[in-house]
Amino acid sequence: MNFKKSQKLYTKGLKNLVGAVNSPVRAFASVGGNPLFIKRAKGSTIIDVDNNRYVDLVLSYGPMILGHRHKKVQRAINKALKNGYSFGASTQNEIKLAKIVCDAFPSMDKVRFVNSGTEAVLSGIRLARAFTGKDKIIKFSGCYHGHQDALLVAAGSGLATLSLPGSKGVPEGAVKNTLIATYNDLDSVKRHFEEHDDIAGVIIEPVGGNMGVVIPQNNFLKELKVFLESKDALLIADEVMTGFRSKFGGAQELFDVEADITCLGKVIGGGFPVGAYGARNEIMEMVAPLGGMYQAGTLSGNPIAMAGGISTLTELKRQDPYQQFEEVGKQIETILLAAAEKYNVDLTVNRFGSMLNPFFTNVKVTNFEEAQSSDTEKFGVFFWEMIKNGVFLPPSQFEAWFLSSAITEEDLAKIEKAVNKAMEKVAE
Ligand code: PLP
Repeated sequence: MNFKKSQKLYTKGLKNLVGAVNSPVRAFASVGGNPLFIKRAKGSTIIDVDNNRYVDLVLSYGPMILGHRHKKVQRAINKALKNGYSFGASTQNEIKLAKIVCDAFPSMDKVRFVNSGTEAVLSGIRLARAFTGKDKIIKFSGCYHGHQDALLVAAGSGLATLSLPGSKGVPEGAVKNTLIATYNDLDSVKRHFEEHDDIAGVIIEPVGGNMGVVIPQNNFLKELKVFLESKDALLIADEVMTGFRSKFGGAQELFDVEADITCLGKVIGGGFPVGAYGARNEIMEMVAPLGGMYQAGTLSGNPIAMAGGISTLTELKRQDPYQQFEEVGKQIETILLAAAEKYNVDLTVNRFGSMLNPFFTNVKVTNFEEAQSSDTEKFGVFFWEMIKNGVFLPPSQFEAWFLSSAITEEDLAKIEKAVNKAMEKVAE
């Protein structure tokens, strides 16, 4: 396997692109080496410009849940393209996608489409403040909610990958209303409420996916919701990653918890730039043009993106792959643990349905602090050996691996072989 063309493009890209990438985690900073450039993808396979073929466990960081270029999605997009790309006016497909989303999430009567997960969350936060008339927001350390100023503290993901505590350029004032709590620790939330009486709500990734995969323990989400109700504060579920992935109705369906405000992204656009936030009528009526909370977007509800979303979610519902995800995920988890045992490597695997990742530690990982006990150098060695053996992983210890319904038995055999080679290398 060689990476000559990727190397060439990387050098060329450095001239006019920052680090030759448009999102920092793509830069391979924490695993060493240079980024791969992708030529195309189909089904469960992604192919780089040097014609190396990989089983894709990145899946564009989640959206490609059906695999790449599913024929029904492709057909829907081709059809939409023929009618025009953007109108700045409403279309029937926005109503159709809104209905699919609201039917899947009982906590949402209405939804507003935006262009990314970041936009969904920043709008959801504004809405929580508008509805409650309070300013403070609690977030959990290690949860990432996009790159809006107010939440770019203790934010896991890219920041953790680059070992940054927060981002430069975020003024103190922008984070003065952000309080940090510890995932899976309700007392850490309660303490903030003892000190402040102006907390609008708590934002959470119902399953952490940006500090590696971290699963809510016991009844954490339910207890959090009950506690927030007692304080007239809102539960804001950032289901950008888990929405339509943990279950069709997201983590809320799986854990039987209704959020007050839900933020979505990734899967709902099927690979196109879409985000959404929604809530029950009483809350959504705060949003312009019905209410006084302003939020807008030139390309929001973009017709091509709506077609991508509708076709993806319709096919996803038809396939109902959640049991398959559970089984395949379990197989990969078993492969990882068996290889770790064989080569005597400390490994903890966290998995939630189709999201999983290994931590190179013997510590049980239930929060960001524990996630950071992972040996990231070992992850770097593991990562490159997986690449060389044809498995495309996120180039960061703190990003989840994703499964698509396009994964095959052959892919699993390739993953097993690669994991064993990679673990042997880690043990050297
Ligand atoms: N929220 C969560 C949970 C995410 O995982 C992400 C992105 O990874 C975002 C928000 C931001 O979404 P986007 O990258 O589409 O702006």
